[in-house]
Parts: sequence; C-alpha cells; structure tokens
Amino acid sequence: MKFSSFLDYRALAAGIIVLAGGAALAASPGPVPAASAPPIPAPEDKPFPGTIQLSIDATDIDRKIVRVHEVIPAGAGDLTLLYPKWLPGTHAPEGAIDRFAGLTVTANGQKVAWVRDPVDVYAFHLTVPAGASRLDVNFQYLSPVGDDFGDAEMTSNMLVLEPIRLALYPAGYFARQIMVSLDIVIPPGWQFGTALDGGSGAGGYIMFKPTTFETLADSPIFAGRYFSRMSLDPDGPAPVHLDLVGDRESQLKIAPEELAAHKALISQAYKLFGSHHYDHYDFLVSLSDTVPLGGLEHHRSSEDNTYSDYLTDAARSLSDKDLLPHEYVHSWNGKFRRPADLWTPNYDVPMRDSLLWVYEGQTEYWGKVLTARAGLRSKQQELDDLAYLVATYDNLPGRSWRPLQDTTSDEIINPRRPLSWRSWQRFEDYYDEGALIWLDADTLIREMSKGARSLDDFAKSFFGIDDGSFVPVTYTFDDLVKALNAVQPYDWATFLRTRLEPSGGKAPLDGLKRGGYRLVYGDAENDIVKSLDGERKRTTFTWSLGFVAANKDGEIKSVLWDSPGFKAGLTAGNQIVAVNGIPYDPDVVKEAIKASAGSKDPIELIVKTTDRYKVVHLDYHGGLRYPHLERDPEVKAASLDAILTAK
Ligand SMILES: [Zn+2]
Repeated sequence: MKFSSFLDYRALAAGIIVLAGGAALAASPGPVPAASAPPIPAPEDKPFPGTIQLSIDATDIDRKIVRVHEVIPAGAGDLTLLYPKWLPGTHAPEGAIDRFAGLTVTANGQKVAWVRDPVDVYAFHLTVPAGASRLDVNFQYLSPVGDDFGDAEMTSNMLVLEPIRLALYPAGYFARQIMVSLDIVIPPGWQFGTALDGGSGAGGYIMFKPTTFETLADSPIFAGRYFSRMSLDPDGPAPVHLDLVGDRESQLKIAPEELAAHKALISQAYKLFGSHHYDHYDFLVSLSDTVPLGGLEHHRSSEDNTYSDYLTDAARSLSDKDLLPHEYVHSWNGKFRRPADLWTPNYDVPMRDSLLWVYEGQTEYWGKVLTARAGLRSKQQELDDLAYLVATYDNLPGRSWRPLQDTTSDEIINPRRPLSWRSWQRFEDYYDEGALIWLDADTLIREMSKGARSLDDFAKSFFGIDDGSFVPVTYTFDDLVKALNAVQPYDWATFLRTRLEPSGGKAPLDGLKRGGYRLVYGDAENDIVKSLDGERKRTTFTWSLGFVAANKDGEIKSVLWDSPGFKAGLTAGNQIVAVNGIPYDPDVVKEAIKASAGSKDPIELIVKTTDRYKVVHLDYHGGLRYPHLERDPEVKAASLDAILTAK
C-alpha cells in the first residue's frame, strides 16, 4: 500500500490508524511531523479589488539599491503577500529573495507585523487591522554590487530592471487579474526603453498606464546614459524597435549593413510564422563589458545583454549574433504557445519543464535558421556554428547515462552554477540537442514530401494561430504530435520519444546527413570557435587533448570526461605551468600537439593543482582537431542549404 497525504498524523500520534478495509495499523514509537505551516491562498481566476500603486526609485546607481514603495488596497483580515519565485523564462525558482530587504508594512500610519512563511520563504503573512483600506509596503531590492554577488544590473551608465523582482503581490489571484499602476524614477537625463505602455514624465520620473501584474512582470525596463532607439519595421503590421544602451556612446553606432540584417530578422520571422503576437515589440539591448551576456524572453520585448562591441566588431561578436533571433522567436514559441505544464497562474506556483526541448530547443533551431536567413551570419558562419554544436553532442559522454528528457529539469537542479564535469553531468542539453532533433524533423519532412513541405509549415500552423493576439495558448505533447502530423503524416510520437527517452549512443545526427553535410575535423579553428575563444580569452583543445585552457595563466576551464586529459588526471581549476618543459602558452600547447602526431612520446605537462605541483603525461597522437562541416557528395540536394537561405 501507499500512504496517502491525507493520513491524519494526530490519529497516528494517538497510536492507531483504522484503514478503510477495517484493518488496524499500529503507529511506531518516536516523533511525528509538526503541524503544517499556515495555508497560502491558491490563485483564483477572479479580479483583485482595486489597483496596486507601485513606485520604484532606481536612482541609487552608486550603491545599486532600488527602493520600492507599494500601496496595496486591502480590507481588514488575513493577507498573504508573495515575492515572485518562479520566473518565466528561467523555468526555475530563481526569484531573488536573497536580495529582498528592509520590509516594513503600515496601515493608517501604524506598523503592521509580518511573518515569513516557515516553508515558503517567498510568502509573508500579515493581518490588516480593522478600519484600514490599504497597506503601505516598503522594501529594497539590493542589486548585486560586484561580480561575486551576482550578475550586474546597475552600472554607472545603465539600468537593467525587471519589475518582476521589484514587487510583492497578493496571494489568491491569477496574475492577470491584479491591476498595477507603475511609476519609476531613473537618473536624470537618462533615457529608457520598455514594452510597457504610456511611459511619460520629466526629470527622470516616468508614469505608465495601469496594466495587469502579468504584463508588468513580463516587461523589463532598460535605461541608460547612452541610449538610442530605432525602428526596424516602419511599414510592418506592428512597430518593432531596437533599443540600445551602451557603456559608451560610440558603441551605439550601427553600420547600414548591420541595421539591414536586423531589419531582415523581422521580415524573415514574419515569412516563417505568418503572424505576430504583440502590438509592438522592443529589443532591449545592453552593449556592455559589465552586464554579463545573456537573454530573457518576453511577449512584447526581450532582454538582450551582449558584447559592448556587438555592433562594432563583427568577428568578436560573431558567436552571439543568434541572441536577438533566439529571444525574438520566443515571442511565438514560449510566450504565445506555451507548454501546458509550464504555464502557471502566478509566480509562486511551481512550473514544470517537460517540454523545454520545444520551448527552448525549437527556439534555438529557428534562432539559428533566422540568423542565417537575415544575414546576421553568413551561411558558412552558420555551418561553423552547427559544426561546433554537432561536435559537442558527437562527443558527449553524459549521453551514455542520462536521457535528454531528464535534462529538462536542469534549471531547477542547478541554476547555472559551474559544474565540475559538465560533459558527464549534462547541462540544459534541451537547447542544442533539442535543436538537432528539429533539424532532424525538418529534413525528414522535406525528404518525405519531396521538398513540398518543411518545418516552416509547422511553424506557420502551430505558432501562427490567432494572429495579433498575445494571450498565451497552451499545448501538450499530443497537440504537438497532431500538428506535425497535419504537416506530414508520420509516427511523430515515436520519432520524438526515441530521441528524448533512451540514453546511450550518439546524438541525433540524421538531420545533418539528410541535410547534405557531414562532420569532419581539421587542424584550424572554425570562425565560431575562434569567436568564442577570442571573447573568453581561452583556447579550446576539447577535440584533441580534451580540455579548454585560459590563454593568460593556463587555468583549465573544463575537461572532457574520458578524454586524454581526463585519463591523465586533469580537472577544471588545474593550472598548466609548462608543456614539454616550456612555459605555458596556448601556442606552445598547439606546437606540442602537432609534434606528438608524428611521434610515440607523450605530451608532458607540469600542472599546479589546489595544493601541489605534478607532472602528467598525455598519450595523444591525433593532432589538432577542430570541427567543420563539409558537403556530403552522397547526398545530391543539400536541404540544409535551402533551410539556411532567406525566404
Ligand atoms: Zn530561450
């Protein structure tokens, strides 16, 4: 039998439980669980009475303290206020409760006591006194003051603000049923971009039109000393803007061909999806060496934190040119069409991530395809990117024990902290391995339909419904299979499950072969590896010695499981001091690899570990190896060429 959660512990404590069938079960001696924590009202689909006034002061850029004042309509009685815990787009409980401080609550000028829920530390219980009609709530959001404290959001030149981290909201209501009126103060003279409507004011004070908590939570605000905003689609069905904030004014300059490629992204996306799911859209782009790289999708905007020279140094920023396409695709895939188990009525109900290989995997696929179609990267550069991706999964030992489906929990298991053995543990592989599944599906549809149909048709039918609407439409695995079948009849359920569920074997590379290409290794880095290594000041030897090392001091950044480096006992964090007796330099490693290809002698490294120096020998003779794609002459028509060509 299985104990039910309805089992009455008090009866258990009394010593006896009578089961439905009449049999008695004696309780064991020892402690029993404490009484449950007070209940937190579950969200209901009913209007919250009144409008919350949310006032944010974001002018303290020196100390990076954001001051929040909220006026929350409330009648006498018990109330639970929630700080958002499950943040859309992070797919995990990454709400920054550790940065939440200084909470005081008053009603009618009198202090109101609050108590944090003992189980859910994001919930605060309080009792609104008789005669009160509103609560005044004050707290601070302590934005990270340095790299050791988290990702920078406030610098002396820019603000990257997410209102979802800057508000408490009442438990008991769907987020879309709570109205909020926001005003914000930013440093005087700074300009801002956001998808929030009606922002107006002067001297740094901005008031927005009241909106739902759902829309507010989905609408970041980027502000900066150096700011520029340009239209990407002046004649389109809805305004689309590129909003840039930079560390320096000179970084905001956009060359005509760069602007043309960003404009083409919009037109190519419309050709792909045949729809849009916003009334206006803003790419909020920070060009910074301080705010770390990364993106976050929203319905009518995206946060795109990229290199300071994203617009001014094409070679350096090459590896990040698919960032904006990826986040833009999410407006269709992720925000509008959303997995049924991922959608939640508010931000404290747990999200379930089982379909992230669609949400992120297919977004990654279309992001890369649109990057090429828009001309943000050339076809050859996109092939280089794909070579890097394919080579990663062709050499991923973690596939031997862990199915791709299981990795969909990775954001919850590990919110992007470094992993000692990433290639063995696996890490959010639903992005890139997910993309390979969709390449596989795309080329298969093209083959079966003799070129008449493709995954583009699926994109149009699945994401293109309700043109103009941005009310999310949820879907299940079965809905997905049905939609694929409508494009091309096939056993898509088995196709998907055989790629998601088993572990072991090689990554799904059929799409590459069907697309007319094959993976080969050469002794020169391709452009994407060059760009990634250049930006991160490191050199990749993953496909030869099995590690990546920092250029300056030889610190090993990662070691591939089961590689020659692994077998020699190397780990991330070791520092290479010398190579065959010569002081470390990445070029010295390259020379040693080349020399070892024609010799039987191992490569000797002197390595500094956390507490000692040691000499290790790498018995490797395969030469330098970097991934490239080359045309497979056995396949006549390369459908991958068609996939990457502008429509
Ligand atoms: Zn994404």
